Amino acid sequence: MQITNKHNINKVIHTVIEKITRQQFASKEDAYIRVTDIIRPSHQFALIEKHFDEIKMDVTETIFTMIGTAVHGLIAKHIEHIPALVKFAEKRFQTVFSNTTISGQIDLYMDGTLTDFKTSGVWGLTSSSRSKKIAEWTKQLNIYKYFLEKNNIDVYSLEIVVIYRDWSRAIAEKNDDYPKLCYDTVKIEILPNHEIEEYITNQLEKINIARQGHTEECSDEDKWKKKYLFKVMKEGAKRATRSKIEDYETAKEIKDSLDGNYKIIQEGGKPTRCLYYCNVKEYCPFYKNYIKNNKELLTNEN
Ligand code: SF4
Repeated sequence: MQITNKHNINKVIHTVIEKITRQQFASKEDAYIRVTDIIRPSHQFALIEKHFDEIKMDVTETIFTMIGTAVHGLIAKHIEHIPALVKFAEKRFQTVFSNTTISGQIDLYMDGTLTDFKTSGVWGLTSSSRSKKIAEWTKQLNIYKYFLEKNNIDVYSLEIVVIYRDWSRAIAEKNDDYPKLCYDTVKIEILPNHEIEEYITNQLEKINIARQGHTEECSDEDKWKKKYLFKVMKEGAKRATRSKIEDYETAKEIKDSLDGNYKIIQEGGKPTRCLYYCNVKEYCPFYKNYIKNNKELLTNEN
């Protein structure tokens, strides 16, 4: 994995980010699979593993990982001052599952509660992606819980502590839907162990198949594909007269009610992760195919 420095930002930051980022991705040399890779689409995981040495990312694309790592480091450093009967932070656990070693780092465990810390943009947790994120975290934290219980440590509750890295007081004062604090706690549902075991078994199977090159396209959910919406636009206009219309019939009614030359345009349905958040898209046949078939649509949007 190569972390480039196209904008010539501070050398120390570049070096730190390079180190942190490389640790977050699977390479062929790893003797284990990370929990974060278990919950990743298996096709994407196999591509990362295969192309690890070729993947290029600019330091500016991954700079926020520094904030997350700093938060984890500070918690580990200061946990000794917090009163609790049983506690630990930043501790790695491993377990062997169907001959595969799975490894995961627990951010914090205190008196029966397992906590994971996330730094996130506000948009990521207030938009339609909130439920997707929570579904992903539910799997992640329940696998950690499974690890702890295998080590005879009881877990009674799971939570995610979110620190919003771009929170704005000014927006919070104006917008009712915006978080009122720069911090949030999300309670995570506890799943029964047999469900977690079944999930891990299925994912490992998918990973093994993907590693052999028999790839299954990432699901629409994994691609963070948004639902289709419609907008009504006047011919030649740059902005839509009405947008975010849920169904075609309503869009047509609106169009027919307007005087003049209007058209209906379909929007949404874009694989957001493939387009903007997948580091292996250039090696992905499904992505290449999507770009080829949607050239016109993507050009019009730019
Ligand atoms: S580009 Fe999309 S389909 Fe391909 S690996 Fe990435 S997320 Fe999956």
